[in-house]
Amino acid sequence: MAVTKIKESALKHAEEINWSPDHIKNGRFGKWLEGARDWSISRQRFWASVIPIWKCECGEMVVTGSIDELRAKSIQKITKLIFVRHGESEKNVLGVLSNTHDKWPLTEKGKEDAEHVKNKINDKVDLIIASPILRARETADIINAKMNVPIEYDNLIAEQDYGLWNDKPMDHLQKFDKDYQEYQKNKHDVETRFNYKFGKMGESRQDIIKRIEKFLLETVKKYPGKTILIVSHGGINAAIHRLLHGSSTAEYLMREEIDHRKVDEFYLDWSGKPFDLHKDVVDQITLECPKCGLEVRRIPDVLDTWFDSGSMPFAQLHYPFDNREKFDKIAPADYIAEYQDQCRAWFYYLHIISSAVTGKIAFKNAVVSGTILAEDGRKMSKRLKNYPDPNEMIDKYGADALRFYLTTSPVMQAENLNFKESELAELYRGIFRMLWNSYSFFVLYANIDKWSAQEKPGVSSNILDRWIISLLGQLTNEVNDGMESYNLVKASRAFVPFVDNLSNWYIRRSRKRFWKTENDDDKVNAYQTLYTVLVQLSKLMAPFTPFIAEEIYKNLTGSISVHLEDFPKEGQGAVDSELNNEMSETRKVVELGLSSRAGAGIKVRQPLQSLTYHGKQLNRELEAIVAEEVNVKMVQYGAGDPNTIDLDLRMTDELKSEGLAREIIRTTQELRKNAGFKVEDRIHVHYKTEDNLLDKVMVEMADLIRREVLAYDVISSDQPLEKSGEYSIESGKIWLSIGR
Ligand SMILES: [Zn+2]
Repeated sequence: MAVTKIKESALKHAEEINWSPDHIKNGRFGKWLEGARDWSISRQRFWASVIPIWKCECGEMVVTGSIDELRAKSIQKITKLIFVRHGESEKNVLGVLSNTHDKWPLTEKGKEDAEHVKNKINDKVDLIIASPILRARETADIINAKMNVPIEYDNLIAEQDYGLWNDKPMDHLQKFDKDYQEYQKNKHDVETRFNYKFGKMGESRQDIIKRIEKFLLETVKKYPGKTILIVSHGGINAAIHRLLHGSSTAEYLMREEIDHRKVDEFYLDWSGKPFDLHKDVVDQITLECPKCGLEVRRIPDVLDTWFDSGSMPFAQLHYPFDNREKFDKIAPADYIAEYQDQCRAWFYYLHIISSAVTGKIAFKNAVVSGTILAEDGRKMSKRLKNYPDPNEMIDKYGADALRFYLTTSPVMQAENLNFKESELAELYRGIFRMLWNSYSFFVLYANIDKWSAQEKPGVSSNILDRWIISLLGQLTNEVNDGMESYNLVKASRAFVPFVDNLSNWYIRRSRKRFWKTENDDDKVNAYQTLYTVLVQLSKLMAPFTPFIAEEIYKNLTGSISVHLEDFPKEGQGAVDSELNNEMSETRKVVELGLSSRAGAGIKVRQPLQSLTYHGKQLNRELEAIVAEEVNVKMVQYGAGDPNTIDLDLRMTDELKSEGLAREIIRTTQELRKNAGFKVEDRIHVHYKTEDNLLDKVMVEMADLIRREVLAYDVISSDQPLEKSGEYSIESGKIWLSIGR
């Protein structure tokens, strides 16, 4: 194939292809295309598609372009059967089984069916063989108005013998005929249906196959090489397909109801066997040399298999001979995906052959993947067993996690991936568990509160609600952008920070809103917001993690399937980029504050005076979040590196007392839990301590402690109540006892 002759236009068209990753375009693919050379498409192989060239000793060559052309030139006789079913008849409309010869003529529609078929057949037909049943004879007459050839009637292709069921409507048989009811009982057992003798003394399908086998043999013997139109019945079409193409029993049953307007073609060799283009069949064909008259054999060469692969878009539709409109509709393909070495093979040959045949590209987008290697960087090898069993991975982490691991990995960017189970496990414990916990949290509390989604939810002014909705909008845009450009890594990776923000920030910061007893607007807004986020998130994740997305979506909405929903094109509210940035800044300040505390060895329960941030001033709601998270009395600002904070670590008596009070509160809560008290139980607290500092805290902070542990009173007394314990807090010891 003279590739160099079309190279220039092939290079030009290649500009239209979108590649993911995009460096493939001018890299691996583009470079290879630039260096394209002429292509030898012939191979010496035992088995492949044949090259249709017959070459004579005298030098003359004959090239054939189709089975029909080959038939016309072949010395051996190839018989062609064109099969049509009779047009619709009255028995078809009434649902009657009939093999009576002179009954049930064509309906008006049936006559139109026959006219339609007549106009569809363009072959030069030598004769018509029809079933002797009236509806087939009428159909043959209508078609023959155009052909004007002899008609033969053959009992071998007559309708199935229905025995005692003949000329009876099926609904009647269903009601009154025991034998028919017995037959219908086995409706789903195709083998039984296949061997069932109809109406006791009639034929089974197996019987029909036997007589069709005889018919085909007799026909090729009597009319070798002829083109014959067969006008018969659905069951006969099914039997011919079964014999020539080995179609399944299920397909057989379907073909019995073949469309009245369908035209089927069958080619038979001299022995009644199917003639097709497989090498072993074609190699038996010899031609007569048009120049010297010698008998000529085909050259032994076959086609390079890449020629088949590259021809696939045309070959599958028999384009350009048939289906031109259909081809124009589906070509070029929207996208194809394969691994990087196909830049020199499949991608390349598709492009070259398409450039030659249509002058257009074969595909608009190509997703190119790398190779998945074993953890040690070597090829995965069954012999070495240097990789974990995929089925085990799926059992252990789920198909979603494995799929997500791959779509977020460099393998989707045409790079190699060293498959590490530890990374898959991390993903599973990370994003998947976070997502599932977020969903479970919502379901647990929504069920307790019997909350249900509102048709037209109000707009929440809560900063966390506004932020997560805005972030959801941003996520929706990012996923759409990635998908539109076929950049699946970009699309799928966007979920990781989002789920972290949802679980570790939105829900963690909002927990108290779900826990509180009153059903106020704030609580309703929290529910509505989390519901909105989970529903949209499951739609967005559906292509990447189809199972978990389906589970969440179906349970939350009661709909049939997330996979039947439209993919979200935009978020629920406008994206507030400023708020998104401020919140991520807030999270950053909190992280800096907490790590600074950890560095100084001060527990988070111990309040501190202040945190000084060197970046831009945060608004008051966000400041409050920082103060609570880092447990400081105030947030201040100062000049300096915006990526740093200063924590005032100086301890005052007041801060120290509060810190100790917090320890005592935590200890008392533990005691409550161990005592098995209910969350809403009110209690009495008795305490005894020799430590002056703790004693002072118990007196001064009594109000705070009482409030936090739901106590009526906090009394210095050594009288035990229901549950008691002695604890070390800082340097001192304290005995605590609680009771309802
Ligand atoms: Zn010759």
